[in-house]
Amino acid sequence: MAKADYYDQLGVDRSASAAELKSAYRKLAKKYHPDVNPGDAAAEQKFKDVSEAYEVLKDDQSRAAYDQFGHAAFEQGGGFGGQGGFGGAGGFSGFGDIGDIFEEFFGGAGRAGRGGQRQARRGDDLRTEVDITLQEAYDGTERQVHLTRAAACGACNGSGAKPGSQPSTCPTCQGHGKVRAQQGFFTIERPCHGCQGSGQIIADPCGDCRGGGQTRESRNLSVAIPAGVEDGTRIRLSGEGNAGPNGAAYGDLYVFVNIAPHGILRRDGADLFCAMPVSFDIAVRGGSVNVPVMAGKTVKLSIPAGARSGQQFRLRGKGMPVLRARKFGDLYVQIEVETPTGLTREQGKLFEAFAESLDGGNYPDMAEFNARAKKANAKQ
Ligand SMILES: [Zn+2]
Ligand SMILES: [Zn+2]
Repeated sequence: MAKADYYDQLGVDRSASAAELKSAYRKLAKKYHPDVNPGDAAAEQKFKDVSEAYEVLKDDQSRAAYDQFGHAAFEQGGGFGGQGGFGGAGGFSGFGDIGDIFEEFFGGAGRAGRGGQRQARRGDDLRTEVDITLQEAYDGTERQVHLTRAAACGACNGSGAKPGSQPSTCPTCQGHGKVRAQQGFFTIERPCHGCQGSGQIIADPCGDCRGGGQTRESRNLSVAIPAGVEDGTRIRLSGEGNAGPNGAAYGDLYVFVNIAPHGILRRDGADLFCAMPVSFDIAVRGGSVNVPVMAGKTVKLSIPAGARSGQQFRLRGKGMPVLRARKFGDLYVQIEVETPTGLTREQGKLFEAFAESLDGGNYPDMAEFNARAKKANAKQ
Protein backbone atom coordinates (compact mmCIF):
# COMPACT_ATOMS: atom_id res chain seq x y z
CA MET A 1 0.00 0.00 0.00
CA ALA A 2 1.27 3.44 -0.90
CA LYS A 3 2.29 5.80 1.84
CA ALA A 4 0.77 9.23 1.49
CA ASP A 5 2.52 12.48 2.26
CA TYR A 6 2.33 13.26 5.97
CA TYR A 7 1.02 16.77 5.37
CA ASP A 8 -1.63 15.38 3.04
CA GLN A 9 -2.55 12.82 5.67
CA LEU A 10 -3.28 15.61 8.09
CA GLY A 11 -4.77 17.86 5.42
CA VAL A 12 -2.50 20.77 6.27
CA ASP A 13 -0.12 22.99 4.39
CA ARG A 14 3.61 22.36 4.50
CA SER A 15 3.88 25.67 6.31
CA ALA A 16 1.37 24.70 9.01
CA SER A 17 2.24 25.85 12.53
CA ALA A 18 2.57 23.44 15.46
CA ALA A 19 -0.86 24.52 16.66
CA GLU A 20 -2.42 23.90 13.25
CA LEU A 21 -0.84 20.47 13.09
CA LYS A 22 -2.12 19.59 16.52
CA SER A 23 -5.61 20.77 15.80
CA ALA A 24 -5.73 18.96 12.44
CA TYR A 25 -4.50 15.81 14.11
CA ARG A 26 -6.97 16.01 16.98
CA LYS A 27 -9.85 16.39 14.59
CA LEU A 28 -8.79 13.39 12.51
CA ALA A 29 -7.81 11.22 15.46
CA LYS A 30 -11.21 11.81 16.98
CA LYS A 31 -12.95 10.99 13.71
CA TYR A 32 -11.04 7.78 13.00
CA HIS A 33 -10.43 6.49 16.49
CA PRO A 34 -11.08 2.74 16.68
CA ASP A 35 -13.39 3.23 19.64
CA VAL A 36 -15.63 5.40 17.50
CA ASN A 37 -15.40 3.07 14.49
CA PRO A 38 -15.49 -0.45 15.89
CA GLY A 39 -14.64 -3.07 13.30
CA ASP A 40 -13.87 -0.51 10.60
CA ALA A 41 -10.48 -1.51 9.25
CA ALA A 42 -10.22 1.48 6.91
CA ALA A 43 -10.84 3.89 9.75
CA GLU A 44 -8.30 2.08 11.89
CA GLN A 45 -5.70 2.34 9.15
CA LYS A 46 -6.49 6.00 8.69
CA PHE A 47 -6.13 6.49 12.41
CA LYS A 48 -2.73 4.84 12.38
CA ASP A 49 -1.65 6.89 9.39
CA VAL A 50 -2.61 10.24 10.85
CA SER A 51 -1.03 9.28 14.18
CA GLU A 52 2.19 8.38 12.44
CA ALA A 53 2.14 11.60 10.42
CA TYR A 54 1.57 13.67 13.54
CA GLU A 55 4.22 11.78 15.47
CA VAL A 56 6.80 12.81 12.88
CA LEU A 57 5.63 16.36 12.20
CA LYS A 58 5.09 17.48 15.78
CA ASP A 59 8.78 17.22 16.48
CA ASP A 60 10.76 20.02 14.85
CA GLN A 61 13.76 17.86 14.15
CA SER A 62 11.97 14.95 12.60
CA ARG A 63 9.74 17.38 10.69
CA ALA A 64 12.80 19.07 9.21
CA ALA A 65 14.20 15.68 8.24
CA TYR A 66 10.90 14.73 6.67
CA ASP A 67 10.68 18.02 4.75
CA GLN A 68 14.10 17.38 3.32
CA PHE A 69 14.05 13.68 2.61
CA GLY A 70 10.44 12.58 2.77
CA HIS A 71 9.64 9.17 4.14
CA ALA A 72 13.16 8.09 3.28
CA ALA A 73 14.32 10.14 6.28
CA PHE A 74 13.02 7.39 8.54
CA GLU A 75 14.47 4.42 6.80
CA GLN A 76 16.12 3.09 9.89
CA GLY A 77 13.34 4.13 12.23
CA GLY A 78 11.11 1.54 13.82
CA GLY A 79 8.09 3.48 12.71
CA PHE A 80 6.00 5.42 15.10
CA GLY A 81 6.68 4.69 18.69
CA GLY A 82 9.13 1.92 17.99
CA GLN A 83 12.25 3.97 18.61
CA GLY A 84 13.84 5.34 21.72
CA GLY A 85 12.88 8.66 23.14
CA PHE A 86 11.01 7.15 26.05
CA GLY A 87 12.15 7.18 29.61
CA GLY A 88 14.66 9.66 30.97
CA ALA A 89 13.66 13.00 32.46
CA GLY A 90 11.51 14.92 30.03
CA GLY A 91 12.25 12.41 27.34
CA PHE A 92 8.76 11.07 27.07
CA SER A 93 8.28 12.27 23.55
CA GLY A 94 6.59 9.24 22.09
CA PHE A 95 3.02 8.51 23.03
CA GLY A 96 2.86 11.24 25.62
CA ASP A 97 0.95 13.81 23.65
CA ILE A 98 -1.21 11.27 21.96
CA GLY A 99 -2.15 9.76 25.29
CA ASP A 100 -3.06 13.20 26.58
CA ILE A 101 -5.28 13.83 23.66
CA PHE A 102 -7.09 10.53 24.06
CA GLU A 103 -7.64 11.14 27.70
CA GLU A 104 -9.29 14.38 26.80
CA PHE A 105 -11.43 12.69 24.21
CA PHE A 106 -12.27 9.41 25.79
CA GLY A 107 -11.39 9.70 29.42
CA GLY A 108 -9.22 6.63 29.17
CA ALA A 109 -5.57 5.80 29.10
CA GLY A 110 -3.48 6.31 26.02
CA ARG A 111 -4.52 3.81 23.42
CA ALA A 112 -2.04 4.21 20.67
CA GLY A 113 0.08 1.35 21.92
CA ARG A 114 -2.83 -0.96 22.40
CA GLY A 115 -2.66 -2.90 19.14
CA GLY A 116 -2.25 -6.61 19.64
CA GLN A 117 -0.96 -7.69 16.28
CA ARG A 118 2.32 -6.38 14.98
CA GLN A 119 1.89 -4.08 11.99
CA ALA A 120 4.00 -5.17 9.05
CA ARG A 121 6.10 -2.15 8.26
CA ARG A 122 5.91 -0.93 4.71
CA GLY A 123 9.13 -0.51 2.73
CA ASP A 124 10.96 2.77 2.69
CA ASP A 125 10.34 5.45 0.12
CA LEU A 126 13.10 6.38 -2.25
CA ARG A 127 13.77 9.65 -3.98
CA THR A 128 15.56 10.68 -7.10
CA GLU A 129 15.79 13.76 -9.28
CA VAL A 130 15.53 14.46 -12.98
CA ASP A 131 16.62 17.58 -14.87
CA ILE A 132 14.51 18.88 -17.71
CA THR A 133 14.34 22.03 -19.82
CA LEU A 134 11.52 24.55 -19.80
CA GLN A 135 10.60 23.36 -23.26
CA GLU A 136 10.22 19.82 -21.93
CA ALA A 137 8.09 21.14 -19.09
CA TYR A 138 5.97 22.82 -21.77
CA ASP A 139 5.56 19.71 -23.91
CA GLY A 140 5.65 17.04 -21.24
CA THR A 141 8.37 14.45 -21.53
CA GLU A 142 9.68 11.15 -20.31
CA ARG A 143 12.85 10.27 -18.45
CA GLN A 144 14.58 7.02 -17.67
CA VAL A 145 15.74 6.75 -14.09
CA HIS A 146 18.14 4.14 -12.92
CA LEU A 147 18.06 3.05 -9.33
CA THR A 148 18.96 0.25 -7.03
CA ARG A 149 16.46 -0.81 -4.42
CA ALA A 150 15.76 -3.49 -1.88
CA ALA A 151 13.45 -6.06 -3.44
CA ALA A 152 11.63 -8.94 -1.84
CA CYS A 153 13.79 -12.04 -2.31
CA GLY A 154 12.33 -14.10 -5.15
CA ALA A 155 13.30 -17.43 -3.65
CA CYS A 156 11.45 -16.99 -0.35
CA ASN A 157 8.96 -14.25 -1.34
CA GLY A 158 10.56 -11.99 1.23
CA SER A 159 9.88 -14.22 4.20
CA GLY A 160 13.58 -14.99 4.75
CA ALA A 161 12.76 -18.62 5.46
CA LYS A 162 14.20 -21.37 3.27
CA PRO A 163 11.69 -22.24 0.54
CA GLY A 164 9.38 -24.91 1.89
CA SER A 165 9.83 -23.77 5.50
CA GLN A 166 8.01 -21.03 7.37
CA PRO A 167 9.23 -18.46 9.86
CA SER A 168 7.93 -19.28 13.32
CA THR A 169 6.33 -16.90 15.78
CA CYS A 170 8.79 -15.40 18.25
CA PRO A 171 8.17 -17.00 21.65
CA THR A 172 9.41 -13.95 23.55
CA CYS A 173 6.85 -11.50 22.21
CA GLN A 174 4.29 -13.92 20.74
CA GLY A 175 4.77 -12.29 17.39
CA HIS A 176 3.99 -8.76 18.50
CA GLY A 177 7.55 -7.60 17.86
CA LYS A 178 7.35 -5.54 21.02
CA VAL A 179 7.55 -6.23 24.69
CA ARG A 180 5.93 -4.17 27.41
CA ALA A 181 7.70 -2.91 30.47
CA GLN A 182 6.66 -0.83 33.43
CA GLN A 183 8.61 2.39 33.76
CA GLY A 184 7.53 4.70 36.53
CA PHE A 185 3.86 5.38 35.96
CA PHE A 186 3.93 4.36 32.36
CA THR A 187 3.72 1.07 30.61
CA ILE A 188 6.01 1.39 27.66
CA GLU A 189 6.79 -0.82 24.74
CA ARG A 190 10.19 -1.68 23.40
CA PRO A 191 11.19 -3.69 20.33
CA CYS A 192 11.59 -7.35 21.20
CA HIS A 193 15.21 -8.46 21.44
CA GLY A 194 14.39 -12.05 20.64
CA CYS A 195 13.35 -11.23 17.09
CA GLN A 196 14.65 -7.66 16.61
CA GLY A 197 11.08 -6.48 16.43
CA SER A 198 10.07 -8.64 13.49
CA GLY A 199 7.86 -10.93 15.58
CA GLN A 200 9.26 -13.94 13.79
CA ILE A 201 12.15 -16.34 14.19
CA ILE A 202 13.70 -17.91 11.15
CA ALA A 203 15.16 -21.29 12.02
CA ASP A 204 16.08 -22.27 8.49
CA PRO A 205 17.15 -19.17 6.53
CA CYS A 206 16.73 -18.79 2.78
CA GLY A 207 20.03 -19.32 0.97
CA ASP A 208 19.52 -16.52 -1.54
CA CYS A 209 19.00 -13.71 0.97
CA ARG A 210 20.55 -15.36 4.04
CA GLY A 211 17.31 -14.87 5.94
CA GLY A 212 17.03 -11.12 5.31
CA GLY A 213 14.15 -11.60 2.90
CA GLN A 214 15.58 -8.98 0.57
CA THR A 215 17.94 -8.69 -2.34
CA ARG A 216 19.32 -5.65 -4.15
CA GLU A 217 17.68 -4.97 -7.44
CA SER A 218 18.81 -2.64 -10.21
CA ARG A 219 16.03 -1.06 -12.17
CA ASN A 220 15.42 1.26 -15.08
CA LEU A 221 12.13 3.04 -14.84
CA SER A 222 10.43 5.28 -17.30
CA VAL A 223 8.95 8.35 -15.67
CA ALA A 224 6.26 10.27 -17.51
CA ILE A 225 6.59 13.98 -16.82
CA PRO A 226 3.33 15.77 -17.56
CA ALA A 227 3.16 19.06 -19.45
CA GLY A 228 3.00 21.99 -17.07
CA VAL A 229 5.18 20.61 -14.28
CA GLU A 230 6.92 23.21 -12.20
CA ASP A 231 10.40 23.28 -10.80
CA GLY A 232 10.40 21.07 -7.71
CA THR A 233 7.28 19.12 -8.69
CA ARG A 234 7.30 15.71 -7.05
CA ILE A 235 6.05 12.72 -8.98
CA ARG A 236 5.17 9.64 -6.99
CA LEU A 237 5.66 6.17 -8.42
CA SER A 238 3.63 4.01 -6.15
CA GLY A 239 5.29 0.78 -5.02
CA GLU A 240 8.63 1.56 -6.67
CA GLY A 241 10.48 2.12 -3.39
CA ASN A 242 12.15 -0.45 -1.19
CA ALA A 243 10.49 -3.71 -0.25
CA GLY A 244 9.11 -3.86 3.28
CA PRO A 245 10.60 -6.31 5.76
CA ASN A 246 9.30 -9.88 5.79
CA GLY A 247 7.45 -9.54 2.53
CA ALA A 248 5.61 -6.35 3.55
CA ALA A 249 4.49 -3.86 0.90
CA TYR A 250 6.91 -1.75 -1.11
CA GLY A 251 7.43 1.93 -0.42
CA ASP A 252 7.09 4.59 -3.10
CA LEU A 253 9.56 6.36 -5.31
CA TYR A 254 9.46 10.14 -5.43
CA VAL A 255 10.91 11.75 -8.52
CA PHE A 256 11.70 15.44 -8.07
CA VAL A 257 11.73 17.49 -11.25
CA ASN A 258 14.32 20.23 -11.69
CA ILE A 259 13.74 22.68 -14.51
CA ALA A 260 16.81 24.43 -15.92
CA PRO A 261 16.53 28.21 -16.30
CA HIS A 262 15.55 29.35 -19.78
CA GLY A 263 17.76 31.76 -21.73
CA ILE A 264 15.20 34.54 -22.12
CA LEU A 265 11.97 33.45 -20.47
CA ARG A 266 11.24 33.61 -16.79
CA ARG A 267 8.37 31.62 -15.38
CA ASP A 268 5.89 32.36 -12.66
CA GLY A 269 3.32 29.58 -12.38
CA ALA A 270 1.76 29.27 -15.81
CA ASP A 271 2.80 32.75 -16.92
CA LEU A 272 6.00 33.60 -18.73
CA PHE A 273 7.89 36.87 -18.68
CA CYS A 274 10.31 38.21 -21.23
CA ALA A 275 12.31 41.45 -21.16
CA MET A 276 12.86 42.28 -24.80
CA PRO A 277 14.87 45.07 -26.41
CA VAL A 278 13.14 46.85 -29.30
CA SER A 279 14.68 49.31 -31.69
CA PHE A 280 14.49 53.03 -31.19
CA ASP A 281 12.83 53.27 -34.59
CA ILE A 282 10.01 50.84 -33.75
CA ALA A 283 9.44 52.59 -30.46
CA VAL A 284 9.15 55.96 -32.24
CA ARG A 285 7.04 54.94 -35.20
CA GLY A 286 5.37 51.80 -33.98
CA GLY A 287 5.57 48.46 -35.73
CA SER A 288 5.50 44.79 -35.20
CA VAL A 289 8.20 42.67 -33.59
CA ASN A 290 8.72 38.93 -33.36
CA VAL A 291 8.64 37.61 -29.83
CA PRO A 292 10.34 34.24 -29.32
CA VAL A 293 8.03 31.79 -27.58
CA MET A 294 8.24 28.10 -26.72
CA ALA A 295 9.08 25.43 -29.29
CA GLY A 296 11.39 27.80 -31.20
CA LYS A 297 8.41 29.69 -32.59
CA THR A 298 7.77 33.39 -32.63
CA VAL A 299 4.59 35.42 -32.34
CA LYS A 300 4.02 38.91 -33.66
CA LEU A 301 3.55 41.70 -31.19
CA SER A 302 2.38 45.14 -32.32
CA ILE A 303 4.19 47.99 -30.66
CA PRO A 304 2.29 51.27 -30.76
CA ALA A 305 4.01 54.48 -31.90
CA GLY A 306 5.59 56.31 -28.98
CA ALA A 307 6.19 53.17 -26.92
CA ARG A 308 8.46 53.52 -23.93
CA SER A 309 10.92 51.37 -22.09
CA GLY A 310 9.27 49.33 -19.37
CA GLN A 311 5.91 49.10 -21.11
CA GLN A 312 4.43 45.63 -20.75
CA PHE A 313 2.35 43.76 -23.30
CA ARG A 314 0.40 40.58 -22.76
CA LEU A 315 0.22 37.73 -25.23
CA ARG A 316 -2.74 35.67 -24.08
CA GLY A 317 -2.31 31.92 -23.97
CA LYS A 318 1.35 32.06 -24.91
CA GLY A 319 2.55 31.01 -21.48
CA MET A 320 3.02 27.53 -20.03
CA PRO A 321 0.35 24.86 -20.03
CA VAL A 322 -1.47 24.43 -16.74
CA LEU A 323 -0.82 21.00 -15.22
CA ARG A 324 -3.63 18.58 -16.04
CA ALA A 325 -5.85 21.30 -17.52
CA ARG A 326 -6.48 22.41 -21.06
CA LYS A 327 -5.36 25.90 -20.29
CA PHE A 328 -2.31 28.03 -20.87
CA GLY A 329 -0.89 30.98 -19.02
CA ASP A 330 0.05 34.25 -20.69
CA LEU A 331 3.33 35.65 -21.91
CA TYR A 332 4.18 39.14 -20.66
CA VAL A 333 6.65 41.05 -22.77
CA GLN A 334 8.32 44.05 -21.21
CA ILE A 335 10.02 46.18 -23.82
CA GLU A 336 13.30 47.96 -23.40
CA VAL A 337 13.87 50.66 -26.02
CA GLU A 338 17.41 50.37 -27.27
CA THR A 339 19.27 53.59 -28.08
CA PRO A 340 21.40 53.11 -31.18
CA THR A 341 25.14 53.31 -30.54
CA GLY A 342 28.26 53.39 -32.73
CA LEU A 343 26.81 55.84 -35.26
CA THR A 344 28.93 56.94 -38.22
CA ARG A 345 29.48 60.66 -38.86
CA GLU A 346 26.91 60.53 -41.57
CA GLN A 347 24.31 58.88 -39.33
CA GLY A 348 25.12 61.42 -36.66
CA LYS A 349 24.41 64.23 -39.07
CA LEU A 350 21.10 62.66 -40.07
CA PHE A 351 20.15 62.51 -36.40
CA GLU A 352 21.17 66.09 -35.91
CA ALA A 353 19.01 67.24 -38.81
CA PHE A 354 16.16 65.14 -37.47
CA ALA A 355 16.56 66.42 -33.92
CA GLU A 356 16.49 70.02 -35.13
CA SER A 357 13.16 69.34 -36.75
CA LEU A 358 11.64 68.41 -33.39
CA ASP A 359 10.22 70.77 -30.78
CA GLY A 360 8.51 70.67 -27.36
CA GLY A 361 5.42 69.19 -28.98
CA ASN A 362 7.37 66.06 -29.79
CA TYR A 363 8.74 65.82 -26.25
CA PRO A 364 5.79 66.59 -23.93
CA ASP A 365 7.52 65.16 -20.83
CA MET A 366 10.59 67.30 -21.32
CA ALA A 367 8.44 70.33 -22.01
CA GLU A 368 6.51 69.75 -18.80
CA PHE A 369 9.66 69.11 -16.79
CA ASN A 370 11.25 72.31 -18.04
CA ALA A 371 8.12 74.28 -17.22
CA ARG A 372 8.09 72.91 -13.66
CA ALA A 373 11.76 73.61 -13.20
CA LYS A 374 11.23 77.19 -14.28
CA LYS A 375 8.32 77.62 -11.89
CA ALA A 376 10.28 76.11 -9.00
CA ASN A 377 13.23 78.42 -9.64
CA ALA A 378 10.95 81.47 -9.85
CA LYS A 379 9.64 80.78 -6.32
CA GLN A 380 13.07 80.70 -4.72
ZN1 LIG B 1 15.17 -15.30 0.41
ZN1 LIG C 1 10.01 -11.25 19.51
